[in-house]
Amino acid sequence: MTTEPLLRVENLKKHFPLRGGVLGKEIGQVKAVEGVSFTVQKGETLGIVGESGCGKSTTGRMLLRLIEPTEGDVYFEGKNVTDLSKTDLRKMRRDMQMVFQDPFASLNPRHTVEKILEEPLKVHGIGSPAERKKRVRELLEIVGLSSYHAKRYPHQFSGGQRQRIGIARALMTRPKLIIADEPVSALDVSIQSQVLNLMQDLQNEFGLTYIVIAHDLGVVRHISDRVGVMYLGKMVELTTSERLYDMPLHPYTQALLSAVPIPDPTFEKDSIVLQGDIPSPSNPPSGCTFHTRCPFKMDVCEQKVPLLQEQEEGHYVACHLYSKDGQAASQNIDKPEEVKI
Ligand code: SF4
Repeated sequence: MTTEPLLRVENLKKHFPLRGGVLGKEIGQVKAVEGVSFTVQKGETLGIVGESGCGKSTTGRMLLRLIEPTEGDVYFEGKNVTDLSKTDLRKMRRDMQMVFQDPFASLNPRHTVEKILEEPLKVHGIGSPAERKKRVRELLEIVGLSSYHAKRYPHQFSGGQRQRIGIARALMTRPKLIIADEPVSALDVSIQSQVLNLMQDLQNEFGLTYIVIAHDLGVVRHISDRVGVMYLGKMVELTTSERLYDMPLHPYTQALLSAVPIPDPTFEKDSIVLQGDIPSPSNPPSGCTFHTRCPFKMDVCEQKVPLLQEQEEGHYVACHLYSKDGQAASQNIDKPEEVKI
């Protein structure tokens, strides 16, 4: 018997209009997200990684409809989020909360921590004033701060403490799913693991489900059960965290991983250096959008879009090296499996 995942995303797209000229007419489109599909099971952590501009943050925001999708569906507990009225969407956001990258920018500097944390409860009409204050103090303790911090202002905290406040705010409504967009990238490296460990402890304690968006593969590895790799608005590889790091199939994933330092000087790995910059999503390359930077490019790569297909159980990859179209052409090319990473 298959169980409905907590979250199911189908063919999600976001095209932003590109305007120009004196009249600001639409002269094109930026295809920020171009047909992304995935599921997240209850209690799971899905990491989404990619370079900046790959569409991972836009994807995260579309799940909550902080950005309206151009096309596609998001099902949360079987309900289509994209069809919900404003009232129903607000109710549903009790269960789906977001932790933002920059705790400096996401906390109102003029409000006390108490006011910041009470806000989500007020918006959803939860509890009496006394109950809300009690919950604020509880949550501060849960995230490793103290109840006396409630009367302080955001500028009186360090970066790590501010992110703890951001996490406490997300937890106020007892959500089921938290989407964390670069939750530690604004923090010192020494603080990052503390915040990630806190997130894991909270997940175990409250049975939370996470989507963690990051450009840093180290962060995602630390916390994720499965990882999806995005490139230019598309998911190019999706599998378990362990498998992705042990046996990456997509050349882009291999390049990303080969750039991650390994803390063992005796371990040798081949480095794949990516050529050029990420192309503009307003004018993406034909076929496989990675072909302009791919060391394994074949003729078919410029002509046909590779589909995200299951290669091994639960391991999906969008690359012609593994498709029927590319098999014949790739016979004389070193397969990515042969690259030691
Ligand atoms: Fe490289 Fe072709 Fe695979 Fe794209 S489809 S990643 S260009 S081998």
